[in-house]
Amino acid sequence: MIDLDFDRHHLWHPYSSLLSPLPTYPVVSAQGVRLRLEDGRELIDGMASWWCAIHGYGHPRLDAALRAQSARMSHVMFGGLTHEPAVELARSLLLCTPEPLTRVFFTDSGSVSVEVALKMALQHWRARGLPDKRRFISIRGGYHGDTLGAMSVCDPVTGMHRMFSGTMPEQIFAPRPACRFGDPWEERHLAPLRELLERHAGEVAALVLEPVVQGAGGMWFYSPHWLRRARELCDEHGVLLVADEIATGFGRTGRLFACEHAGISPDIMCVGKALTGGYLTLAATLCTDHVVEGIAADGSGTLMHGPTFMANPLACAVARESLALLAQGRWSEQVRRMEAQLSAGLSPLHGHPAVADVRVLGAIGVVELHAPVDLADIQRRFVERGVWVRPFGRLVYLMPPFVISVEDLTLLTSAVCHVVGRR
Ligand SMILES: *Cc1c(COP(=O)(O)O)cnc(C)c1O
Repeated sequence: MIDLDFDRHHLWHPYSSLLSPLPTYPVVSAQGVRLRLEDGRELIDGMASWWCAIHGYGHPRLDAALRAQSARMSHVMFGGLTHEPAVELARSLLLCTPEPLTRVFFTDSGSVSVEVALKMALQHWRARGLPDKRRFISIRGGYHGDTLGAMSVCDPVTGMHRMFSGTMPEQIFAPRPACRFGDPWEERHLAPLRELLERHAGEVAALVLEPVVQGAGGMWFYSPHWLRRARELCDEHGVLLVADEIATGFGRTGRLFACEHAGISPDIMCVGKALTGGYLTLAATLCTDHVVEGIAADGSGTLMHGPTFMANPLACAVARESLALLAQGRWSEQVRRMEAQLSAGLSPLHGHPAVADVRVLGAIGVVELHAPVDLADIQRRFVERGVWVRPFGRLVYLMPPFVISVEDLTLLTSAVCHVVGRR
């Protein structure tokens, strides 16, 4: 038996209190799209373990890649050594990401990949003799991770800037793009960003954003046209563009990378989450030759970062196999089908008095409520219906593994309709 009492008294869970912890559910195994609880109940996973498990759990090819690599070598330091899993994963990543990206820095989590992106941008301008360009513009409603640098570019309200004020660099925030995904474009939507760039370009190293889909900061889908124009503005004002594709990357929005909706390429791109198909923690920061040339302008070109577990071979091997699965292309049809089914399955909630908005893009379905949920209560009701859905604040959302069947996705959407509809 899993010692839940010990868990409650000694373990922190994400964003949780040790004084009054919410219930946690003991999981003993996971297969396909199902999580198996200790009491034998099975839950259909609506979360893909926070965007990660795109191929489902216990995928035979990912399992095999991991076993084969662990028989050879689980880890070696990356300082002064290199190995095939890292080299071949980098090659695969550069093949599937926008062409101007040519360099890869592997890190052990998404937040750290964002820290590396910020450092790349800072070093780029410093080495080029523009050390005043050391602030960042980011977008309200954004989420970029939990380390201090990454937090500084998160939404200042949901990112708890007040709690950590004085210890974090103060950045510049543009309003969330008001133009929704699919709405006709109007140039006036760009005015706030343009004004900030005109005023601050001399002190700004980069614009940091999640392309098209803002994830944990509010699950907001905005117009790719805004992103396209933001890219142009960055070029006009000599500001780098950092695209955080940690949540959106690897097919979730219907394109392999969300930047593709706008046909743009960033100067620096972060990937993580689904990179290993949800097996191990790994992320990467990619950049262009132009960024590297800047960093090298001081004659050294040394990027000041180097995690202990950089390019862990187990994680790289399984990520490479996950990219090989994606390269077979089935994800595209799966996500298209999920998009149609999520739209239809959640449509009964349009106009419900508790519901402010329902939106779907790719394999992401969002129900925005007027009032925050009671997490412990709603979680229990979802578990009773045999599904795993974990809302936050006013958002109840689904982003299941791409391999989910029509029947299982129907069970998920009807559980959401039922649980939300009763409020
Ligand atoms: C999850 C997430 C991060 C942070 O990644 P971790 O692996 O949790 O550190 C950063 N940016 C975005 C967009 C994310 O969704």
